Parts: sequence; C-alpha cells; structure tokens
Amino acid sequence: MSKQAYLWAPAPVHSLPVQGSESRFPVRRIFCVGRNYHAHALEMNSPVDKANARPFYFLKDASTLVESGATLPYPAGTTNYHYEMELVVAIGASGFRVGEDEAQRLVYGYAAGLDMTRRDLQLTAREQGRPWDLGKNFENSAICSEIIPQGELGILASGSIALQVNGTAKQSADLGQLIWTIPELLADLSQFYHLEPGDLIYTGTPEGVGPVQPGDRITGQIHKVGSVALTIAAAE
Ligand code: MN
Repeated sequence: MSKQAYLWAPAPVHSLPVQGSESRFPVRRIFCVGRNYHAHALEMNSPVDKANARPFYFLKDASTLVESGATLPYPAGTTNYHYEMELVVAIGASGFRVGEDEAQRLVYGYAAGLDMTRRDLQLTAREQGRPWDLGKNFENSAICSEIIPQGELGILASGSIALQVNGTAKQSADLGQLIWTIPELLADLSQFYHLEPGDLIYTGTPEGVGPVQPGDRITGQIHKVGSVALTIAAAE
C-alpha cells in the first residue's frame, strides 16, 4: 500500500495569537480595502464619492503575514517603502451575501495591522492599469498584532487609530471616519466571496502614509484593540 506523500514539506499554516486563548487564529485569506478614509483617498489623488462608488479590494497571500514586533529587511525592488496603519477584522464564521445585520455573527475579533506597501511599484501599476501585486502582495507585507476577540467590543464604529515612526506622530484618525463601515464592508465583500473563518480584512488606512528607511521603528495603536510594531533593517 502506498501512502499519500508530498514531494516536500507543505507550506506552514500561518496564524496569529489570540488574546486570552492558548489556541491560535489560523489565517485563510487576507483581503485589503483600498481608499476607505476620505483624507487618504485625497492624498492619493483618488477622492471617493460614496454615493457613486463601491469599495474595492486587493488580496495579500497568507504567506505575507508577519507577527507584530518583527524586524524585517527593507524589501527588494523599491525605493519608496510605505507604512499604512489599519484596523484588521478577523472573520470567525462563514457568510455569503450577508446583510449588514450579520456583521456581529461573522466577526471573531480585531487586530492592529500594517499594510506595508512598495508605493513606487503600486503607483506605476495604477498608472498603467496593471495589477497591484508587486506593490502590495509581497513577502512580509502584512504585519498583524494578536487577535482581540470581539467580546464586549461589538462592531467597532469609532476609536482612535494612530501610527508613529521613531516616536513621531505620522497618522492620527478615528475609526468613525471609515468611508465604508465594518457591516457595509462585510455585506459588500460577501457579494463576491464566500467569507470563511480565518479570513482577515485590512479595512484601509487613514491619511499620513509615508516612507520608512532602514533603522526606522514603526509603532501603531487602535483604541481598545491593541498595538503593532515593526522595525526596518538593512536591505538584503
Ligand atoms: Mn491599505
């Protein structure tokens, strides 16, 4: 009898610690929302008129995930490596074509995340109508804190979100400024995908994005959710 075998060890399951639990949150997909704060959309020269628009998304592979606190080399292929501080929604139940009233059922919890971006490559792709993968979906580009279970937080609708580089404030906003709220995002995204436990949704960044250099330390906080940190080392 031959036993099923793989040619080499399968890729590991990527996961995050969960506050108050010895079990980890296994990550399935990483969805990211583009332009979900008006002031950031403006700084990217792409203002959003919510009455005439829907949210848009890109994905990062689960293998891009890195736990908060890491030190990472400045990535290959860029000279304009940017931070984006974001609230991360962690999905804990299946949902397809859900209503906004089902958000509480789908949300397992929250985390503080960094959508690290090779801005030069993203903007070139945007100008040329090409996919954003080189700018967004690259190794070590999705930084995430531990998951905070939803518990009494419910569906977050407000709370400060902030980021500093070497202790200097760079981003400071409020979750109440999200163009599309968490229930609206889940209702919209689930029109296109069967949301499943383990999916993460990076909900977009406020204004104040900018570059970092080797030696910089990024810190970020979201009220009632937690903090995230990343140190940039020399390029490989
Ligand atoms: Mn982002």
